[in-house]
Amino acid sequence: MDSAVTVQDVTQVYVTEERATLAVQQINLTIERGEFVSLIGPSGCGKTTLLSIIAGLIKPTVGTVTIAGKKVTEPSTRVGYMLQQDYLFPWRTIEDNACMGLEITGALTKEAKQKVLHLLEEMGLLGFKDYYPTQLSGGMRQRVALVRTLATEPELLLLDEPFSALDYQTKLQLEDLVVETLHAKKKTALLVTHDITEAIAMSDRIIVLDPNPGRIRQTFEIPEEIRTTVPFAARELPGFHALFRLIWQEFGGQEA
Ligand code: ADP
Ligand code: MG
Repeated sequence: MDSAVTVQDVTQVYVTEERATLAVQQINLTIERGEFVSLIGPSGCGKTTLLSIIAGLIKPTVGTVTIAGKKVTEPSTRVGYMLQQDYLFPWRTIEDNACMGLEITGALTKEAKQKVLHLLEEMGLLGFKDYYPTQLSGGMRQRVALVRTLATEPELLLLDEPFSALDYQTKLQLEDLVVETLHAKKKTALLVTHDITEAIAMSDRIIVLDPNPGRIRQTFEIPEEIRTTVPFAARELPGFHALFRLIWQEFGGQEA
């Protein structure tokens, strides 16, 4: 069976009038179906660049990306993208925001809308479907963004620091919700985060990137006990802090 995602020898050079920036260099990685992988590394090491390439938003200078055996050449509904900012439209209701992706791709059937309502219910948002984004908290808005992302039924979810603008409690609650939802729906996910504990608590595997140029420095497999425990409870497990220290040292304590 094909892997969910294969990134092969990907290098990205940005060329502007002033300079050429080698953003990522020779990235090779494979993500299996249903796997949850986190990407951590200091600011500017090319995390967003790599996600944009996997999403088909940027064509890499060198290398290829395949999703389920098919080469990525442009954005597609096979990939869902969730960002730090929720980018909800303030003039549309929660329900209409959640339906955006379906609407754009011409897939907003009656059944699809029913599924969106069901997703809103799962996220505890059904009672807010007629509200507008400004009437909701940051955590609720990110849950709407998650519904909108899941609504088009992508095989792969790319999550670029989706919790970093939230307060700590909300972030912890959302980590659990996202992990449980993605596991239940057997989705494959690639998360970018600054937060080592978040990466350990949520992932099956962590990839640490080196900066300038962005290259894979090391990969950590998360022990089964932590993997199979929801993020909030995983933080309490005996092996958690030892793993945190190990990854922290790998970072050299540098700002992530
Ligand atoms: P990260 O998400 O890890 O912070 P980015 O992928 O955003 O890193 O950026 C990696 C490097 O590429 C940085 O040096 C950044 O300045 C540069 N870069 C990112 N996007 C562009 C762009 N559109 N044009 C030129 N340089 C860019
Ligand atoms: Mg980034």
